[in-house]
Amino acid sequence: MPIKSRIRTIPHYPHEGIMFRDITTLLKDPVGLRATIQEITKRYEGAKIDKVVGIEARGFIVGTPVAYELGVGFVPVRKKNKLPAETAGRDYQLEYGSDRLEIHLDAIQPGDRVLLVDDLIATGGTALAAVNLIQDMGGEVLECCFVIDLPDVGGRARLEANGQKVFALCEFAGE
Ligand code: AMP
Repeated sequence: MPIKSRIRTIPHYPHEGIMFRDITTLLKDPVGLRATIQEITKRYEGAKIDKVVGIEARGFIVGTPVAYELGVGFVPVRKKNKLPAETAGRDYQLEYGSDRLEIHLDAIQPGDRVLLVDDLIATGGTALAAVNLIQDMGGEVLECCFVIDLPDVGGRARLEANGQKVFALCEFAGE
């Protein structure tokens, strides 16, 4: 398990009761970093992806080298008021309150085949907001790809119930 074994767990961060899955230990390791990018790239070679969309901030770290390897462009989805040009936005629920994700209006062309990338799926709220943004612009999300799935939290099931395909390199279940 070159990937899962290199992910560090920090109990009770940033809140009591949260098991934070820290990918910095995976990224700093040359074997771990290479395995992560190669495993994702291998899955989508030949899939006729037009763009990789990464979610701020750890989705940028994973998504950009995947886009580079696939020979396609990378598009950032960012938290509100971070992107300089005209944006479309979607609000989504957090544990406490809500937040907003935004994308540049000219980032996705109608009919673009998009791979969505983030480090981790928990409730799926963040990924679903990004999927909705891409679809608002006429893009087609081929799959939502994560390094880590927390199946106990239900995000994968939620995305699948919304018609999305989900892939993750590893899972932390019941841990
Ligand atoms: P969610 O919208 O609940 O699926 O949360 C996903 C986002 O929150 C991702 O961008 C993750 O980086 C972050 N996140 C949520 N839970 C964790 C966790 N246990 N460990 C690390 N990151 C997390």
